[in-house]
Amino acid sequence: MIERNGASRGRTVQIITTGGTIASRVDPATGGAVPAVGAAELVALAPSLHDHAEVRVTDFGMLQSWNIGTDVMLRIAGVAGDALRDDAVAGVVVTHGTDTMEETAFALDLLLDGVKPVVVTGAMRNAGDPGFDGPRNLTAAVRVAVDAGARERGALVVMNDEIHAARFVTKMHTTAFGTFASPETGAVGLIDDRGVWFRWRPDPLPRLSPARAETNVHLVKMAAGADALLLRALLEARVGGVVIEASGGGNVSDLWHDPIAALIAASIPVVLVSRCPTGRIVPVYGGPGGGRTLRALGVIDGGWFSGPKARVALSLALGSGMNTETIRRFFAQLTL
Ligand code: ASP
Repeated sequence: MIERNGASRGRTVQIITTGGTIASRVDPATGGAVPAVGAAELVALAPSLHDHAEVRVTDFGMLQSWNIGTDVMLRIAGVAGDALRDDAVAGVVVTHGTDTMEETAFALDLLLDGVKPVVVTGAMRNAGDPGFDGPRNLTAAVRVAVDAGARERGALVVMNDEIHAARFVTKMHTTAFGTFASPETGAVGLIDDRGVWFRWRPDPLPRLSPARAETNVHLVKMAAGADALLLRALLEARVGGVVIEASGGGNVSDLWHDPIAALIAASIPVVLVSRCPTGRIVPVYGGPGGGRTLRALGVIDGGWFSGPKARVALSLALGSGMNTETIRRFFAQLTL
């Protein structure tokens, strides 16, 4: 059933700009696109914003999103949280690079209470490109951020007139305008000339209030017959945590069994997810690298999360002071 919600006109939205393609132009000296457009200029490029909301802006940064780690995500959440505590503010929009947008959006999903809308958007063409899609995406994001129907749906990504839940959305194509999709669930809603439409409501997530983000957390992707060099290096480095993106329902090369056992014995949490874009971890197979064997070793079940999102959750859980067992329980709540 599609719910239809009227926009709450005359409400205030806080736009927090972090950089990315939506803020980029080509540097003539290098020919490369780099962030160069501040918040005020970006808003000026989308004049119809003001038909939907009163706009306040915060220039957070001019970052290319592959440089935004969980420590920076925590700071973005702090700025957004401060804005949301202002009764006049109906919702927040964060503009962000698309390469790692899904990770920051998921961090915001875990860090903010999700009552007021938190919407992340960006662009697939830069501000100097004739196909620049920033104004359209920003206007759509503002329409969602001030829409009463967007409340209590967790953090959202709005791109190409689609609304996606932060926890399920992923960048599927390197250049397409419609690159963002949620293969597991489909979009939460859409925006069209008649309004903002929501199709379903994501369950509330357990929230985290970390004092810091543990950035010494690493992601290792399983490839056929791969040896355990990387895992042995992580063990030797005594890292904070490891996420393994396994094959199928959660299986790895037999060569990985001993280093995984050693990481767990060293109290280094190991979260297991699948490299498959949909489905969840299912511990079926025996053998040294089989998922059932890994579960018996004590890996943490990462459910249906992608490797990058499991890494965000692990980083913030460790920053909250959790240990392996409390992290295991946290992931069990996350993946209900
Ligand atoms: N290609 C990216 C974008 O579309 C650049 C970035 O993620 O910073 O925003």
